[in-house]
Amino acid sequence: MSNRRNFIKKAALGTAAVTAVGFSGLAKESKGILETPPKKIKKPVVISTWNHGLPANQETWKELKAGQPALDAIEAGMKIPEADPNVRSVGYGGYPDREGKVTLDACIMDHNSNCGSVSFLQGIKHPISVAKLVLQKTPHVMLSGAGALQFALSQGFKEENLLTPDSEKDWKKWLEESKYKPVINIENHDTISLLMIDEDGNLAGGCTTSGAAWKMHGRVGDSPIIGAGLFLDNEVGAAAATGLGEAVIRTAGSAMVVELMRQGKSPYEACKEITERIYNKHKNHKDMEYLQVGFIALNKNGEHGAYSLRSGFNYAISDDENGHRMEDAKFKMSWDK
Ligand code: ASP
Repeated sequence: MSNRRNFIKKAALGTAAVTAVGFSGLAKESKGILETPPKKIKKPVVISTWNHGLPANQETWKELKAGQPALDAIEAGMKIPEADPNVRSVGYGGYPDREGKVTLDACIMDHNSNCGSVSFLQGIKHPISVAKLVLQKTPHVMLSGAGALQFALSQGFKEENLLTPDSEKDWKKWLEESKYKPVINIENHDTISLLMIDEDGNLAGGCTTSGAAWKMHGRVGDSPIIGAGLFLDNEVGAAAATGLGEAVIRTAGSAMVVELMRQGKSPYEACKEITERIYNKHKNHKDMEYLQVGFIALNKNGEHGAYSLRSGFNYAISDDENGHRMEDAKFKMSWDK
């Protein structure tokens, strides 16, 4: 049996041993004394959002183990859901905006705080690859709309139609009533956000999405915005979001999760606290009816955690100890509340 198959088999056996709250060995400093020595976690560790995170994790893992640089490994992983027409929330096959246009957002960030991002990009199947080139080849962090497309074409990307017949059919059905109510987890409208720590303890991450289904033309969510959909500080940890981008932007979600980890919170505790904050800020807001947000986080020690406002959020985890597997995130409330 190949190493890869062994690895996946081990994952299936090892799932029960792991909890969604991650490990609890994060060192806490008090009066200059380390109360708990950090548990040694074998790196790399890769985590990502939702079921489509699993194949993305597997590909990222394969590339990391083959010695590829972190950003290339992330790109390779994210390209899997981007190319899959059955993933209706990312890349090719993603749900369009209310005018029937598929508009894509993506970003990527490395351990030196270099970032690349594209927003409102149309006609390019792999926005994560364009975001990586923004990081590597331009003096900027973010390119948007026509300028992002122009840059992609200059780099040899080909323009193509990303609206699949299935997505077009669903869009036409939506037009019959034209009610904007993005039910995340139900309309399968979920960003893939992926975080990793490599063998040397360096963090990196990326996000890619077609954004909220039936959004207004020109709407950009949290996913391409560094600090909202994704943030990392290589001294501390990394965090990423999924869910209603407007709520994540309003609260600088991922940046805040990282700041709480800096203050000594575990990844799980940090995700939970920011989700609670989002709830408190939105409980009387018009968005509350359909609000879902979820965070994943990974700290410098390789510990991970996740939390969501409403039920239904899960995340993919890959490490040497337990292989590739899915975990259900803990949540504040179920959908009927
Ligand atoms: N965060 C994405 C956005 O608001 C959507 C999602 O993750 O479901 O564009």
